[in-house]
Amino acid sequence: MMDFLGDAFGAAQQWLFEAVVQPVVFAAGLGNLVEDAFDATGWLLVGLLQLALLVAVVGPLQRWRPVEPVTDRAAIRTDILYTLIHRLGVFRLALFFTLDPLADELFGFLRTQGIATFHLDQLWPGVTDIALVSFLLYLLVFDFVEYGIHRAQHQWGWWWALHSLHHSQRQMTMWSDNRNHLLDDLLHDTLIVVVAQAIGVPPGQFVALVAFTQLSESFQHANLKLWYGSVGERLWISPRFHRVHHAIGIGHESPAAADGKPRLGGVNFGVLLPYWDMLFGTANFECRFDATGVRDQVEQGRDYGRGFWSQQWLGLKRLGGRA
Ligand SMILES: [Zn+2]
Ligand SMILES: [Zn+2]
Repeated sequence: MMDFLGDAFGAAQQWLFEAVVQPVVFAAGLGNLVEDAFDATGWLLVGLLQLALLVAVVGPLQRWRPVEPVTDRAAIRTDILYTLIHRLGVFRLALFFTLDPLADELFGFLRTQGIATFHLDQLWPGVTDIALVSFLLYLLVFDFVEYGIHRAQHQWGWWWALHSLHHSQRQMTMWSDNRNHLLDDLLHDTLIVVVAQAIGVPPGQFVALVAFTQLSESFQHANLKLWYGSVGERLWISPRFHRVHHAIGIGHESPAAADGKPRLGGVNFGVLLPYWDMLFGTANFECRFDATGVRDQVEQGRDYGRGFWSQQWLGLKRLGGRA
C-alpha cells in the first residue's frame, strides 16, 4: 500500500516537474537548481493534493454540519491566503534561498566531525525498518515534539506574543491552520527539520509525514460539529478536541488567578494523538463547541489585525511589548 502510494506519487511528481516546473526553472535561468526544483515539485504536489481534498471533502462537511454560521468572510479570506502561501510553497521557497544553505552547512559540518547520523528505523532491524512501522514510529516522535512545541508556545510570554495570532481567529475554519506569525512558523519548522535530521528520517518519509500531519491539522480546524465518541476522542484528535483548545478562556488559559488576571496555560495541545495531553494532564474531553478567540480581544478589544500584513506587523509589536 505504502509502496503503491509512493510509486503513484513519484509518477505524478515526475509529470508535474517535466510539464510545468522544469520549463519555468530553465526559463528563469536557474538550471543549476534543477535537482532542488524536483524536490520542491514534491512539496507543490502535496500542497495541491491537500487543497483539492480540503475543497472537495472538508468544505462540504463544513456546510453540512457547521459549528457556527459564517459571518465574517473577509477573516476567512485572510486565512485562505495563509494556506496558499504555505501549501503552495511560497514560504518554503523563501526559506530555501535564506536558511537552507546555513542548515546544509551545519549538518554537513556535524557529519564531517564524525557525528554519525542516528537512524531510528535501525532500532530493531527486521521490524522497525518495515516502511509502515518506521512511518508510525516517526509519526509518534514528531507528534510528541509537536506537543512540546505547542506547550512552549503557550508557556513563554514571548512565544505566546507570536502564537496568539493563530488564536485570534474568531471565525475558525479548515483554512485557519496556517494562520501563524511567520517567525512562529520559522521556529516551528526549524525544530521539526532538526529533529528529522537527528533521527534520520528519509526524505520521502518526511514528505509523507508532513503532508499527513498538515492535512489532519487543517481538518481539526474545520467549522465542523464532529466528535468521535468518548472512546474515539481518546484515540485520535477531532475537530471538537482542537476547537476546545481555541475556546476563549478555556483552551489556552488557566482559570483566572487570585488577582483576577488570566494566566497562560490551557488544554488540548496535541496535534494528532491525544495521548500526550492525557499523559501530562492537559486533556479536555468535554463535548462542547465554544466561541473561539483570545480573551483580551473580547474584554479589551485588543487588535490582532485583519489582513496579512497588519497581523504580521502587530505580532512583531506584541513581541516587542508595544501592542
Ligand atoms: Zn495554541
Ligand atoms: Zn489551532
